[in-house]
Order: sequence, then C-alpha cells, then structure tokens
Amino acid sequence: MTASDAQTGMVVQAECEAVTAALLQAAAHLAQGQDAEGILRPFCEALVAASSHIRLAWMWLGAPDTAIIRPTYAVGPARGYAESLVLGADEATRSLSPGLRALATGLPVMATVRSDPTFAPWRTEALHYGLEVTASFPFGEAGDGKQGLVAVYADEADYFARLGWAPFVAFQHLAQVALTQAALRERLNTLATLDSLTGLLNRGAMQDALERLHDEARRRHGTYGVLLIDIDRFKLINDGYGHGVGDGVIRDMARVLRRSLRADDRAGRWGGEEFLCLLPGADYRAASDIAERLRAGVMHHPFAVSGGRTLRATVSLGMACFPADGDSVQALLNHADMGLYEAKRDGRNRVARASDRGRNLFATAQQLEGALTSGRVRPAYQPIVALADGRVMAKEALARIITAEGVLEAEHFIEAADRFQWLYRLDHDMICQVIEDCAAARQTQDPPLAYFVNVSTDLLHHAERVQDLLSRITRTTMPCCAGSDAEKPLVIEITERQFLGDFNAVRRTLAPFLAFGIRLALDDFGSGYSSFRYLTELPFAFVKLDKVLVNRVQTAQGRRILRGLQDLARDLGFRTIAEGVEDEACADALAALGVDWAQGHYFASPRFEDAPQGSGKDRDGAAS
Ligand code: GH3
Ligand code: MG
Ligand code: MG
Repeated sequence: MTASDAQTGMVVQAECEAVTAALLQAAAHLAQGQDAEGILRPFCEALVAASSHIRLAWMWLGAPDTAIIRPTYAVGPARGYAESLVLGADEATRSLSPGLRALATGLPVMATVRSDPTFAPWRTEALHYGLEVTASFPFGEAGDGKQGLVAVYADEADYFARLGWAPFVAFQHLAQVALTQAALRERLNTLATLDSLTGLLNRGAMQDALERLHDEARRRHGTYGVLLIDIDRFKLINDGYGHGVGDGVIRDMARVLRRSLRADDRAGRWGGEEFLCLLPGADYRAASDIAERLRAGVMHHPFAVSGGRTLRATVSLGMACFPADGDSVQALLNHADMGLYEAKRDGRNRVARASDRGRNLFATAQQLEGALTSGRVRPAYQPIVALADGRVMAKEALARIITAEGVLEAEHFIEAADRFQWLYRLDHDMICQVIEDCAAARQTQDPPLAYFVNVSTDLLHHAERVQDLLSRITRTTMPCCAGSDAEKPLVIEITERQFLGDFNAVRRTLAPFLAFGIRLALDDFGSGYSSFRYLTELPFAFVKLDKVLVNRVQTAQGRRILRGLQDLARDLGFRTIAEGVEDEACADALAALGVDWAQGHYFASPRFEDAPQGSGKDRDGAAS
C-alpha cells in the first residue's frame, strides 16, 4: 500500500464515520414524523447535511400506479436538477431509470451518471449540476396505499462504492420502520372515527364534525341543520327477527340515509339505532325538506330479511337549525333530541322540531338539576285526616323546589324529571329527607303519624339507590310507629303506571321494604288503567282514590262507583284515602260512604315542616 493509498483510506474512513454519525443522529428524528411526508423530507435533509459530497436528495410520494413521477420535494445545492426532472413510469419505461428499477424491485439501486446506460436521458443535465452518481431508495407502505422514492446524488462516481452501502441501507431501513408505524397510526385513527357496522362516521367523529360546522357557520353568519334519527320500535325487529337481521337493518338504514342526503351533508351513527345528519347551509325550510325525504325514503325501502323476504321500518326525526334553535352545539343537539322525543310521543314515523313546551322542559330540567345538587328540593307535607273525626293520621310528602322567587310545585318539574330520567334522583333525595323528618318527629308526635312518599319505577331500577334507602331506613329503625308494632311509619305510594314495565321486577325490589314493615299505597286509583289485578298481587295497605273520581262524589254515578270501591276495599282489608278534597260537602259525602281518610286543600295545604313559625310564605309549600 502506498502512502497516498493509506491517506486516501483514512479520508474515506473519516468520511464514512462522519456520514454514519450524521445519519444515526438524524435517524432518531425520523420516528417523530407524523406521516410519510414528515419522515421522507427529514430523510432527504439528513443525507444532504451528512456530507458536502452529497449534492442533492429528492423524494416522491404517490400511488403505485402513477404514470409520471416528478419529485415532490428536493434539497441540496443541486436541487435545480430535480425541478425539471420527469420519469415516465409506464410499463415501457419502467426499466429505463435507476429510480424506477428501485421502485419495481423494492431494493436500493446505484447508478453512475456517465456509464449507466439507463441514465442516458438525464446525463447531460446531471453532469451540468456536477452529479456523478445516484442511489435510489424505495419505500413501501407509506400510508394511504402510497409508495415513496428517495434519490440521492453525489459528486464522485465511486462515492457510494468507496463508502459502502451499509450506513445508507441501515438509514433506509430505519425510515421504513418509521413509515410503517406512521401508516399504522393513520389506519388506527381512521378506524377510530368509523362505525364498524355501517361504515359511517361514529359518534366521536360526528361530534367533531358538528363542532367544525358550527364554528364555520358562526364565522360566516351561515346556517345549518341537525337531524337526529331513531328507528321506530326497533326492539320489535330485534325480537322478531333476531339481532343479525337487526344489524342488517341498521346497515341498510345507513345506506338509505346517505342516498337521500345532498353531496355535502354528512351522516353518522350516533348510538345503537340512532343516526345524526349534518346539513351545512340548510335553513329550516331546507332541513324540513331533507328530513321529510329521509323519512319517506326509509318508509318505502324494503329491508331485506332472510329468504328473499323484506320488512318495513320507519324512523322518527328530531330537527334543529342554527341559529334559530340555539347558539351552541349542545343546545342544538338538545333541541333535536327534544324534537325526536316529541315525534315519538306523537305517533312516530314523523319529523318534529321541539315545541315551545319542549324547550321549556329544558329550562325546568336545568332548574331541577341545580336544585338537586344544591339541596333545594324539599318535602312539603300535606296532612291526611280521618274523615270520621278529623284527626290527622298521616302526611304525604310532596316535592318542592325552593327558588329565590318562591316555591315550585312538583307538577312544574315532574315531566322534566321524567323526560331526563332524573325521577330516581328526585325520589331518593326526597325519601332521605322524609326518613330524617320522620325520625325527628318521633320526639313530639303523639300518636306518631304515617309518612307517605312517592316512588317511581325509575328509582326501583337504580339498585344502589334502593339499597341506600333500605340501609337508611333500617339504620333509623323507623322507631315511630303509626299502627301495630310490625308496621313502620313509612308508606310507599306507587301508581299503576309503574307496573306496566316489568311487574315482577317491581315486586322483587319492593319485597325487602315490605318485609321490614313498610306499607304500600296504590296511588291515583280510579284514573288511568285501574286494573284490579295489582290489588291482588301486591299487599297494599292503602288505596288512594284519584281526585277526579273523588270530586264526582256529588254525582249519583260517581257516588255509586265510590261506594262500590269502598265496599271492595273494606272486604279486601285496604284503607281508602280520598285525594284532592276541596270543600266540606265533598268531605261529608265521602264520610257518608265510609271512606277512611282524606287529604286536600279543604283540610290543609302542603307545608314545610321545619320553617320558622309565622313566616307565612315560607311555611306554605304551595307555589307562590
Ligand atoms: P322507539 O320507537 O321508542 O325508538 O322504540 P325502540 O324499540 O326502537 O326503543 P329503543 O330505542 O329504546 O330501543 C332500541 C333498541 O335497539 C335497544 C337495543 O337492544 C337495540 N340496539 C341497539 N344497538 C343495536 C345494534 O347495534 N344492533 C342491534 N341488532 N340492535 C341494537
Ligand atoms: Mg333508541
Ligand atoms: Mg328506537
């Protein structure tokens, strides 16, 4: 080896070490790229930065079947060369350039500018830029089904041969790993926004899309519509045909909806069998037209069942428009939801926009929520007297909301509580207070009174609340007794309406209360369904006669019905309580029929138990 050879060897080794170190350092940053572009650009930049001999690196990113390849990014002192570069990538020319050969084989390809015959078309231009050798690195799996290509150029024909491939190929491998990971992340992100059953956007993605639409509409003072769509009686489809057919209907429904929308509208799966559609630019008129088209489209669509049979399905739609129905995304969704609720209530297979009454329910619901969280729901007690001698025997606890302006009666917020499924919170809150009041009253009441509380099935469905109440009741041991020793002073009032769901479940939930000595009253009897079945299937101690019936006691027919009920109650061992007694004549007529107890404004209005004496308005549990 000559001295000059040794010197050259040292130079090459130094260059190799410098390039390797630079590429290693750059490799750490590749993994941070979010997408193919963000990985291949730094790849090119790192190569050019690694050595002054590397004069140019360009990249291309595109579909594998692209016919003409032009660099999408170039870096280095000779980047002017890449600006006019064109590679014809059709079948005939595929083998005619090193870059295309790399893409075709998936392997790096090196070519010298002067001697590689396939470089001929670009030779003059490349030499003009001082480029003597090129290395092409192909990249697969670059996300979105794309391919990538990076071409690097050095100013000495034997540059890559002298340095060796190793550092470049290692660098290429690291970039490929980063690309594969980025592509995987991208795929996961896409999957995370799509509903797997329908292929529509899922709830999260729709929420995002709605927020973007809202911001845009606000900025441009535009309009848009929101449709919330729910399949009618879908449980019947599931129950009748099986879940598989149910899934098929949901999938088909997505297609029918998409077909009926305009090009810019979006549809997404909002929940089980609920869909949300966004209608950019739609005002009330346009949104109604689209909603109606969707409704009719679904109604006339034959949904496939097995064996070539079909079934019909309908949807109900709630509609809300920006800005008419609210200035926030949540307000619009709430109004669409309220519209849907009203469409269902009014018979299904229809489009509805929330009524004024529906809108008021929201305001009331918010008021109730505030009252529940800040302890402003309070029981007012209405005395229940024995008709025979006027003695107070019991009290019914009635829910009231205390506001700065006065007291709200239950009838103002019960519907909102029901609609928003907060009855269980309301009942639980009330019963807790009644238990305490009842225990405290033991000190002073002689004889102790019974406390009637209203219970909804919503409460009975919340096992943890029921358990909590049971343990509170047993903890206080309900010491004050209204009757025999086994009887506890608390009486649960329940209406027949509550039994319409799963009667046996209600009975099971009530069992431990009854076992403890809590008694049951059947509320609102004589209104609604008045099925006698329940009287025989649950051990009622009281039957409360509905006030509509009670106020007919003055008519011959009403009197006859009440007498019949009273006789029945006596035979079956129930005590009767007349509700809503408003005058003396009514009270006398009921007493004459033998009705046991009664309540109503004639005897006393509901009042708060612990309000300071004399503060008339505060003591009065009636609405101000
Ligand atoms: P309504 O007219 O009041 O909407 O009646 P409905 O029977 O549709 O009542 P609801 O909305 O309460 O019930 C929806 C049912 O949809 C309950 C649930 O079991 C079913 N469901 C939810 N998601 C899916 C799903 O992905 N596939 C199937 N097959 N059923 C689902
Ligand atoms: Mg539903
Ligand atoms: Mg439904």
